[in-house]
Amino acid sequence: APAISIRNVVKRYAPVGEGPGKLALDDVSFDVPQGQIFGLLGPNGAGKSTLINTLAGLVMKTSGEVSIWGFDIDRDMRNAKRAIGIVPQEIVFDPFFTPFEVLENQAGLYGVAKPLRRSMELLRAVHLADKAQSYARTLSGGMKRRLLVAKAMVHSPPVLVLDEPTAGVDVELRRQLWDLVTEMNREGVTVVLTTHYLEEAEELCDRIAIINHGKLITNQPTRELVGMA
Ligand code: ADP
Ligand code: ADP
Repeated sequence: APAISIRNVVKRYAPVGEGPGKLALDDVSFDVPQGQIFGLLGPNGAGKSTLINTLAGLVMKTSGEVSIWGFDIDRDMRNAKRAIGIVPQEIVFDPFFTPFEVLENQAGLYGVAKPLRRSMELLRAVHLADKAQSYARTLSGGMKRRLLVAKAMVHSPPVLVLDEPTAGVDVELRRQLWDLVTEMNREGVTVVLTTHYLEEAEELCDRIAIINHGKLITNQPTRELVGMA
């Protein structure tokens, strides 16, 4: 089974004033194969965040079907959510928590066994073990982003989704995040990331889907896509 299956997904946002409302996803269908790094590429406003937020259960699709790791998000959101870890664009943790506390809390939310051990393991994985007891607010931008990745992985989901992980970050940090994503993937995690940088998708991804104006334009192995150009 694919890690994620998206079938005929339509999202029309509620209208503001006159008119029918923005059609953000227009009959989108594709699969994310297990074990890959899958890139969802498209310009600003293409519908990438809408799609990610649909997977996360934060946006209600208008129609269509989505399953994550075989769990249909309408019939079995609980299991679907457990199968996925989401790294949002914005920093979402309390600045006066330590990285250790951020992860421990998240572990508590998911009822993770051995939360302390899991939190330390993750801090090591994202190279933040030496910052375990510092306030999150004192971390650099790069460290905060790495903590977000650790937070998304607390419940050991088979699928990790990152929404524009490198938007507005410098070259060095981008490189670090790429390394981290590659490491996670090497350990068996299926990765989906959105980006508007073609070079990023080319460098990192096994497969690239391009979305524009809510429509899927292409979906193919990176090698073929690049060969075409
Ligand atoms: P991307 O992530 O690719 O930049 P989005 O999914 O954020 O694209 O947006 C797709 C389209 O949907 C855009 O035209 C955007 O303005 C519109 N949109 C996004 N969120 C909302 C919302 N909550 N209400 C109405 N329109 C929205
Ligand atoms: P920041 O990007 O937040 O400034 P640093 O560059 O200070 O973080 O990184 C802290 C340490 O962790 C450095 O020694 C760096 O080499 C190491 N590091 C960070 N990310 C990775 C990674 N993905 N793979 C390997 N080492 C990393």
